[in-house]
Amino acid sequence: MTDSIFTKIIKREIPANIIYEDEYVVAFEDVNPVAPIHILVVPKKQIPTMNDANEEDTILLGKILLTAGKLAKQKGVSEDGYRLVINCNKGAGQTVFHIHCHLLGGRIFNWPPG
Ligand code: 5GP
Repeated sequence: MTDSIFTKIIKREIPANIIYEDEYVVAFEDVNPVAPIHILVVPKKQIPTMNDANEEDTILLGKILLTAGKLAKQKGVSEDGYRLVINCNKGAGQTVFHIHCHLLGGRIFNWPPG
């Protein structure tokens, strides 16, 4: 598998505003934010879509969500509310084929989403 753009960010081959890293995940600001807080939480393991995740990724998927929740708290949006989004495949708007969770906060979000 060739490196995704996110793997290149993780390897510091291309720049990004990285705000968190541990052995499982990296989190950085989205280059094209759609909310005042727009952070991507990305596993270091390059899994193309949610369809490709399996039982062995259980801990990793939990780490992604827990990291997003901690960053929401750190960024001061946990009480007002925030949205976590994982797009799967083109029909859902996925453009980067390396699983990632969008942490969106700092504004009101409609439900259901458009
Ligand atoms: P998707 O549409 O796949 O769910 O989300 C991909 C996200 O990655 C988009 O919100 C897009 O703005 C962001 N993105 C794409 N390329 C880059 C990049 O090179 N750097 C950063 N920081 N974000 C990127």
